Amino acid sequence: MELIALPAFADNYIWMLHDGTDAVVVDPGEAAPVLSALDERQLALSGILVTHHHGDHVGGVDELRSRLKGTVYGPKRERIPEPFVAVADGDVVDLLGLHFEVIEVPGHTAGHVAYFHAGREGAPILFCGDTLFSGGCGRLFEGTAEQMHASLARLASLPGDTRVCCAHEYTLSNLKFARAVEPGNAALARYKADCEATRAAGRPTLPSTIAVERAINPFLRCDQPEVTASARTQGARSAEGTEVFATLRRWKNEFR
Ligand code: ZN
Ligand code: FE
Repeated sequence: MELIALPAFADNYIWMLHDGTDAVVVDPGEAAPVLSALDERQLALSGILVTHHHGDHVGGVDELRSRLKGTVYGPKRERIPEPFVAVADGDVVDLLGLHFEVIEVPGHTAGHVAYFHAGREGAPILFCGDTLFSGGCGRLFEGTAEQMHASLARLASLPGDTRVCCAHEYTLSNLKFARAVEPGNAALARYKADCEATRAAGRPTLPSTIAVERAINPFLRCDQPEVTASARTQGARSAEGTEVFATLRRWKNEFR
């Protein structure tokens, strides 16, 4: 199995997983990068996974249907281009002979789902759309801070070696914010330097891993003393997890 990040638009990644014959793509916001990747490698498209309804994640679905020898899967609670098979928490999707567990992660949108493969030969894989980013998380467009905080906690509890496949290359700007929240986090400082070198070389900073995110992502660290202290300086009324999370999310929205 090979896992590839196909760049799309300004900063999206369309994730492709393939076994040399068949491929699955996640959140094809546009069709062109997928079509060229399929042609280059002579792959059949055997499935499409969609995490949420935003245009930069579903815009290419209809154009890809003529090439699709399989099914489009998407969240039950959202409007996805029809036809698609609606999935909900706990459902299992079988693609390329692999099981993908559906995890509902409301917050960025009301019905957002993630897909988790527990791993067999390789490390586990998580397709998390716009919920978890490296060093950050999605904006709260439809859900509450409480929902997003719970969704992120669920993802953070996955195995540490899980490959985290986010839908955007937002890492460097997220890490700039993360450093403002946790100036004393040495792992974060090292990771930021690594990611800067990776981007300077023109490579994606993703996939990340759950272990890395637990160590450096302030949105997964709302119980850490330095994070709660920083949140208090930004108006958090207590050190309670959701309150700290909500404060960080608001702060990040205005952070430059
Ligand atoms: Zn989105
Ligand atoms: Fe997006």
